[in-house]
Amino acid sequence: MSNNYRRLNSKDRKKLELYHLSKKILKKGIKWWLAISGIVCLFIVGLAAFYITIDNIEEKSLGSNNERLSLVNSKPTDESDDTSGLSELNKKELERESDKEKIISDSEGIVDSGTESGFYDFKNWNSSCNPELMVVNAGNRLPEDINIKIKVCRGKEVGALLAGDLEQMICDAKKEGIILWISSGYRSIDLQTRLFKRQIEREKSKEVISNEEAEKRAARIVARPHTSEHNTGLAIDFNGVEDNFYTTKEYKWLINNAHKYGFIERYQKKWQSHTGVIYEPWHFRYVGKEAAPLVRESGLCLEDYIKENLINNIREENS
Ligand SMILES: [Zn+2]
Repeated sequence: MSNNYRRLNSKDRKKLELYHLSKKILKKGIKWWLAISGIVCLFIVGLAAFYITIDNIEEKSLGSNNERLSLVNSKPTDESDDTSGLSELNKKELERESDKEKIISDSEGIVDSGTESGFYDFKNWNSSCNPELMVVNAGNRLPEDINIKIKVCRGKEVGALLAGDLEQMICDAKKEGIILWISSGYRSIDLQTRLFKRQIEREKSKEVISNEEAEKRAARIVARPHTSEHNTGLAIDFNGVEDNFYTTKEYKWLINNAHKYGFIERYQKKWQSHTGVIYEPWHFRYVGKEAAPLVRESGLCLEDYIKENLINNIREENS
């Protein structure tokens, strides 16, 4: 190389030097370009991952807005359509409805409203029972005069009655490696009304149907106001509100331990015709530490347990 180089005249040498110099600059340029575009790519990927994670967390935290109830003819009392009073969270919850609708409509096992003509009337029971034993379903509205005290537990509004036991349960579960989080707790009548009305409008936009028919269809997807157990503050939806929650270790832990803290599984498949709600493995109901083990042991849904063991027994004792 050096001999050949010496043989060159000065003009060619300069050309060669220039060639080597430009090659060096080009190499360096490519290196810098690669480094900078690598950093930019990493930044974009990181940013995207961040937003996807935040979005998922937000979606999970909003949880299920709906109880898939069967039809009983009760009408929402709040006819207001104004959304200005809604908190940011509630607005988001309303927005999320549209995403959830398809999933819920597609899911099987919704109790056909046509087959359910009536529910046992718990009106008298609800007016005299301990608040944690109140029965609210599609046929039994939340009592009008009720004053529900709310507390915040893990960032979610829940009934004050259960907040302490719930916190304890989540803490104890964690010690055993079970991570429980609240997806949905207390839901106000106001929010439930808006969710229901929005669903009616959706049903109407799908095809030309009567108001009555639209209401009936909406009730299969969103619980009518005053008929969701979440309106009582006594119901908690855990973790992701996923249909396969029953396959998780968290569910198994709850099934074996929740009663110690006053909670029962509320909507089993075999109880559908009695509760009016399809299988919801994530939905647990607080009935208090005294009643929960007894309800669990009975193998009955809450409606039947109260009817058979508390209402009928009292009647027999009195007669
Ligand atoms: Zn629920």
